[in-house]
Amino acid sequence: MTNIDPTAPVLVTGGSGYVASWVVRYLLEDGKTVRATVRDPKKKSGLEHLHALAEEHAGRLTLHRAELLEPGSFTDAMAGCELVIHTASPFLLGKVKNPQKQLIAPALEGTRNVLASVNEVGSVKRVVLTSSVVAIYGDTIEMVGKDAFTEDDWNTTSTPTHQEYSYSKTVAEREAWDIQADQDRWDLVTIHPGLVLGPALTTVSKSGSMATMNHFTDFSLAGGAPAMELGVVDVRDVARAHIAAGYTPEAHGRYITNAESMSMLQIGHALREKFGYRPSFPLFEAPKLLIKLGAPVAGLTRKYVELNVGYPLRFDNSRTVRELGINFRPGAESVVEHFQQMIDDGMVRG
Ligand code: NAP
Repeated sequence: MTNIDPTAPVLVTGGSGYVASWVVRYLLEDGKTVRATVRDPKKKSGLEHLHALAEEHAGRLTLHRAELLEPGSFTDAMAGCELVIHTASPFLLGKVKNPQKQLIAPALEGTRNVLASVNEVGSVKRVVLTSSVVAIYGDTIEMVGKDAFTEDDWNTTSTPTHQEYSYSKTVAEREAWDIQADQDRWDLVTIHPGLVLGPALTTVSKSGSMATMNHFTDFSLAGGAPAMELGVVDVRDVARAHIAAGYTPEAHGRYITNAESMSMLQIGHALREKFGYRPSFPLFEAPKLLIKLGAPVAGLTRKYVELNVGYPLRFDNSRTVRELGINFRPGAESVVEHFQQMIDDGMVRG
């Protein structure tokens, strides 16, 4: 049982990110005082929505410079906080030039640095870490013989050269649990979203969520979608899960935060139903062999296609519903509202 003082400030790392921006907004709407870390508080673009929130909730949102790879970077901003929500970590999909530098180091070293600061700052009682379903499983083929992945499952198959992002999230989460186990002042709760979709408060995020939705505009699926299912969850439900995990005294352990599974084709259907026919929305699934042949062009490996195309993907989200009180929005709603946001932001024609 960990009771967090609702009047104490709460630290959100990576506050300008797609997911974190909603966490910050809901915390403010709930009356909390928020410290958000960003890499460059002076940057001209990408922080407009946070400045607007700061103005709307006068005196309750401050921005603090912090860099994941800099030891001690988060300590000052954390002073006096009882709750730390650590979301900052790069989410890059497809071909990443230098996975060690771009993904693994910021995830792992960043978690070490943030938690070293937590160890130094005596006021912190709880850390909520944004992990992912990709720390639960490695490749979809691991579903064979299972009804659904649960919080008891761990990704044991991703490596620095196969499913690099999944590897970065897995090693970062493992490290967090190890560091937490070495002390008894603060506890740890981890949130495991599927692919997060839904309206963005920021237009500059490079999150894999945006990259995935871009496939429905760039014609890459026009010749057929891969027969792949994705766990889909709304960004607003993910934000609410982080906050519930922070302020529910009994919250503990890992929470799968996923609404439902949708295939790429089902996402295309949901988009067509709302926005009508567009040639960039897939109409059918392409044979696995074809997807495998074209994999390198799409920035994928043939091994990835072999192990992930053609299998169902299911997650048991019942712990999150029961213990964190999240009533997940249907995936199609998130998909449609995400695309609408892209239209509203002028990224796609209306
Ligand atoms: P995002 O919009 O790209 O946000 C990532 C945040 O991390 C940004 O604020 C970014 O800061 C910050 N960051 C990256 N490298 C950093 C560094 N070296 N130092 C300091 N900050 C750094 O992506 P997101 O989708 O919101 O992801 C947020 C978290 O959710 C990540 O932990 C991700 O793994 C997790 N997650 C996301 C999904 C999803 O589908 N989106 C699913 C499961 C889990 P800048 O703004 O300065 O770049």
